[in-house]
Amino acid sequence: MPVLVVGSIALDTVKTPVAEHADLLGGSASYAAVSASFFTGVNLVGVVGDDFPKEHIEYFRSRKVDLAGLQIVKGKTFRWSGEYHWDLNTRDTRSVELNVFEHFSPELAPGYAATPYVLLANIAPQLQHHVLDQMEKPRFVIADTMDLWINIAQDALVSLLKRVDMLILNDGEARQLTGMTSLIKAGRAIQKLGPKYVAVKKGEHGCLLFAPEGFFSCGAYPLEDIHDPTGAGDTFAGGLAGYLASQDKAEVNFEQLKRAVVYGSVMASFNVEAFSLERLRTLTQREIDERYQAFRLMSHFETIG
Ligand code: AMP
Repeated sequence: MPVLVVGSIALDTVKTPVAEHADLLGGSASYAAVSASFFTGVNLVGVVGDDFPKEHIEYFRSRKVDLAGLQIVKGKTFRWSGEYHWDLNTRDTRSVELNVFEHFSPELAPGYAATPYVLLANIAPQLQHHVLDQMEKPRFVIADTMDLWINIAQDALVSLLKRVDMLILNDGEARQLTGMTSLIKAGRAIQKLGPKYVAVKKGEHGCLLFAPEGFFSCGAYPLEDIHDPTGAGDTFAGGLAGYLASQDKAEVNFEQLKRAVVYGSVMASFNVEAFSLERLRTLTQREIDERYQAFRLMSHFETIG
């Protein structure tokens, strides 16, 4: 079953303590769509300007991402620039140029409305609502967000939560949204706002999954060298959504979601090994399977007695 992915498609400039690269392929939808494409078909909804390099469009095509929902309009592509601190865990946004994103209205291509799985990758919650307004009864809807929307569009975000099955956000955002310091309290408080499932990402420390059936904690892969953390959250969300869609079960359950969280973590761990989407370009199914097993062994222990 395919997954519909809507979000930003960007040209990023990223500076880490050791390197800086400009005009890289980025954006929440780019990372999420390519990550999901390792598991299932993807219907992409987004916008780029007429300056967007053709090679990136060809790359999406090579990943079998359906581009009927990609708008190519006159003007410049959305641009974002960020600089990481020495710990690579925190960053400052240096600049944001909305460009064609300013007047973007996500419209579904013919046939997209029936896509059973939906990933609302990080964009303004009003646009995420607009996509859901056009969908016909999706089976499972996942939303991602960021601190900016909690600051400037909290009402739209909170009303979106009533319409989604799962919210993905990072630890700082969970605390910001709920005003709670305990992540366990925050995760449960977010469930009360609507989503049955909540995934709280903790960067290099893994992620927490809150479900009505229970609680699951997934560690992070012990990488020695992180080159660029940009898009880790989006790759996580894409892998998670892509895996769920590939299972095509009548109903999503806790066991499947635990595996989906591990697949999301596997994809994020590869993505941070290189700038932009470079590591995903060479990634193989075998590497994904091996790292999934490594995650399993890392967190498995025997019963006593
Ligand atoms: P992450 O590292 O998961 O937070 O995602 C980074 C990506 O988000 C970059 O590739 C940016 O292009 C994109 N991005 C940054 N700010 C925004 C925004 N306000 N709306 C949508 N996407 C954004």
